[in-house]
Amino acid sequence: MDFTLTPEQEALRAEVRAWLTANIPDEWVNQIVGRADVPRAEAYDFMRAWQRKLYDAGFIGLTWPKEYGGRGLTFMEELIVQEEMALAKAPPILNILGVGMAGPTIIAYGTEAQKSRYVSKILSCEEIWCQGYSEPNAGSDLASLQMRAVKDGECWVISGQKVWTSLAHVADRMMLLARTDPDAKRHKGITYFLLDMHLPGVTVKPLKQLTGDAEFNEVFLDNVRVHESEVLGGVNNGWAVGLTTLMYERLALGFGLQVRLRIALDGVVDLARRMEKDGRVITKDRIMRQKIAQLWIETEALKYTGARGITKLLKGEMPGPEASSGKMIWVDTHQRMQELAMEIEGPYSQLTRGSDWAVEGGLWQYTFLRSRANSVEGGTTEIQKNIIGERVLGLPKD
Ligand SMILES: Cc1cc2nc3c(=O)[nH]c(=O)nc-3n(C[C@H](O)[C@H](O)[C@H](O)COP(=O)(O)OP(=O)(O)OC[C@H]3O[C@@H](n4cnc5c(N)ncnc54)[C@H](O)[C@@H]3O)c2cc1C
Repeated sequence: MDFTLTPEQEALRAEVRAWLTANIPDEWVNQIVGRADVPRAEAYDFMRAWQRKLYDAGFIGLTWPKEYGGRGLTFMEELIVQEEMALAKAPPILNILGVGMAGPTIIAYGTEAQKSRYVSKILSCEEIWCQGYSEPNAGSDLASLQMRAVKDGECWVISGQKVWTSLAHVADRMMLLARTDPDAKRHKGITYFLLDMHLPGVTVKPLKQLTGDAEFNEVFLDNVRVHESEVLGGVNNGWAVGLTTLMYERLALGFGLQVRLRIALDGVVDLARRMEKDGRVITKDRIMRQKIAQLWIETEALKYTGARGITKLLKGEMPGPEASSGKMIWVDTHQRMQELAMEIEGPYSQLTRGSDWAVEGGLWQYTFLRSRANSVEGGTTEIQKNIIGERVLGLPKD
């Protein structure tokens, strides 16, 4: 990838840098809202407002077409903005699944009506999206999903259960996969729907995680009538459409999340500068310094791995299976980073939110526990290894 910037790109960097300096809200800088990378309930309103602000300023969806609220720029400009976000320690957005997955998939497969109806509202955070793929018996083996959709006049009548659906409790729309032809081969009879979460028959039940937060949910559909105009990419073509979403998910996880990784690493360095062990500040400890340096190296490597994915997009190609390596390396680096934060805190690592003595209000305890899910969400590490083995290295099939 050629990192040389054009004068316009240099100007964009200066513009976004100045804008971020002037606009990152004080509540964030002064840690009044929870500073975790995943949206926490108490920060929803804040993140919604922040995303809207980014949208109004034109710093979100840079590569999306202008007619749907984007700026029609290249992934190089996106890279510049993401880098500046990391340097400025900018807050995350709320509609992460909409921006990372639903939007790009609708742009790729949507009808004109669908693009006009949905895309800009994703960017502006007017409509929050969730992803309804996993079911109780269909996770890694997604093609065994059982949710059924049966045609009745102009509508599809959908029944069944989804599980682990992040943000379903605040979502307006769902990227939904359901079986429309039970007689077809497993991968063939699936259709991708753009489901309105407010339709009668949709029930959302929160599930509590290890962190104590209920960030994901069970979602039950009981004879939900969905108009045929809400099919994305054609009936029984849901596997291809759904895989596109997953490619974008892995790309977003591998590339977008390296920005959050960098912000977290800077936080670990700050923590190490403030905490002491045996009367010595942690950054004086050689082993700790090496661990921090190693994480910095890996974070930088991840950035450049992400840049390789971007190069592909710049050439007009779709993100490929290499995105799996970005996701896998991000998981490993992030989990070790969180473990290091606990090590730096020493005995204080046992104190969580609610304790007067918890370091940074228990932020690192929360992010440490949350990071355990990283190797499961968005496709497990074992599955990423299978993909790399088969599609990148050409090894025999799993
Ligand atoms: C925090 C979080 C948020 C999530 N959000 C969403 C969401 O918004 N929407 C959504 O649809 N899903 C979501 N998920 C679900 C996630 O995608 C699944 O949990 C994941 O795909 C694994 O599926 P499973 O839980 O059914 O585990 P299983 O597929 O049953 O896997 C169990 C274990 O077996 C291993 N395994 C399975 N198959 C193979 C194989 N072929 N080779 C080697 N090892 C294998 C797995 O790696 C894993 O260790 C979320 C999960 C988490 C943890």
